Amino acid sequence: MVFIFFIGLCVGSFLNVIIVRTHENISIVRGRSICPFCHATLRFFDVIPVLSYLLLCGKCRFCHARIHPQYPLVELMTGVGFLLIYLRYTVGFSLPETFSVSLLPWFFVRDAFLLCVFLVIAVYDLRYTYILDRFILPALIALIPLQLFLGMSWQSLLAGTLVLGSFFGAQYFFSHGTWVGGGDIRLGILMGVTLGLSQGLFALLLAYGTGAFVAVLLLVTKKATRKTQIPFGPFLAGATSIVLFAGTWMMNIFFL
Ligand SMILES: [Zn+2]
Repeated sequence: MVFIFFIGLCVGSFLNVIIVRTHENISIVRGRSICPFCHATLRFFDVIPVLSYLLLCGKCRFCHARIHPQYPLVELMTGVGFLLIYLRYTVGFSLPETFSVSLLPWFFVRDAFLLCVFLVIAVYDLRYTYILDRFILPALIALIPLQLFLGMSWQSLLAGTLVLGSFFGAQYFFSHGTWVGGGDIRLGILMGVTLGLSQGLFALLLAYGTGAFVAVLLLVTKKATRKTQIPFGPFLAGATSIVLFAGTWMMNIFFL
C-alpha cells in the first residue's frame, strides 16, 4: 500500500509537469524543473512530492515566492486516488459489472489512467479555463480498445458516446457556443466511453447537482457574482471519476 501511494505521488508530480508545461507550450520530457518566478533550476530535493512543499513551507528556496498549491494537491490526490483504487479491487468494493479476477491488473491500470486524465482536465480547466483536445483525444484512442477488452459491450459504449456527446452538442448548437464550449462535447464523449450510458447519465446528474450547489454557495458567500464564469469541467471530470470508482454502489443506493 505504501508503494502504491508513493507511485501515485510520483505520477501526480508528473501530472503537474504536464499541466504547467502544456500551458507554457514547452517540452514535457526535456529540461529540469525551474522556479517560475526566479528561474532557478530546482534540485532533486526541491521536487520530492508533497514533502518538499511542506519542508519549504510552500515557498521557493531561492526567491521565497509562493509555490502554487496545485503542486502538492495534485500529488496528494493522485497518491490517495491510486491507493483507493488499489483498495477497491482488494476488498471488492463496488466492482464493475464486467469485472473478472483474471483481468484485475488491467482494471487497476484503466482506473489509475482515467484518474490521471480527469485530474489533468479538471485542474487545467480550473487554472486556465480550457478543456484541451490534446488531453481528451489521446485518452479516447487509448480507452476505447481497453474498454472493449475489459468487457464493456460496444452497444453501451456507443450509446454512452452518442447520448452524452449530443447532450452537450445540442446545447452548443442552440446557444451558438455560449453555454458550453466544444471541449465540453469531447469531454461528454469521453464520459460516455468511460462509463457507458446509464452510469454516464448518473455522472451528468451528479455534476449538475454539485455544480449548482457550489454556484449557489459562491453566490451566497459573495465569492462570486451572477457574471462570474465558473468552469464546469472540474465538475464533469470529478463526477465521472467518482462514478467510475463507486458508481455500482451509488446507483444501488439511489435506485433501490
Ligand atoms: Zn524562485
